[in-house]
Amino acid sequence: MKINVAQLLRASIGSVRDYEIKQVIDITGDGVNSLVQGKVRLMRTNRSILVKGELAAEVELTCSRCLGSFKCPLKMNLEEEYYPTADVDTGAALSLPDEPGCFTIDQQHVLDLTEAVRQYALLAIPMKPLCRENCAGLCPFCGHNLNRGPCGCPSRVANPR
Ligand SMILES: [Zn+2]
Ligand SMILES: [Zn+2]
Repeated sequence: MKINVAQLLRASIGSVRDYEIKQVIDITGDGVNSLVQGKVRLMRTNRSILVKGELAAEVELTCSRCLGSFKCPLKMNLEEEYYPTADVDTGAALSLPDEPGCFTIDQQHVLDLTEAVRQYALLAIPMKPLCRENCAGLCPFCGHNLNRGPCGCPSRVANPR
């Protein structure tokens, strides 16, 4: 997810460029690639490139109730500033703002969205993912996946609902 922004860095403040994103990245760091797609708008500000965009991805998650794996769609509203590390005309090193973990544009003026997208995607993943809203879960006695139908266990626990 690399974009060369040398031209945009030379453009006047307020200039924008639009990009279509369609790329596969490893969001959860477990070697499973997810397709990320959407649109981003890059805007030149007086000190940085502001990236705004709406992206969608799909990650494979494990249901917290039935332990089955399923594909979960994620939506991300990206908004991050990327600071140049080198002057686009002279190549001289630029000082960065005093913000820990701020995103930077490398010496070759390449802006890499991958890490920001990964972070946003991780935040978008639900804490207790469910494969479906009414997931029936596992039978507490035999472990049968009740989404696939009832098991043969006698219902020893009466459930009033
Ligand atoms: Zn489930
Ligand atoms: Zn059972």
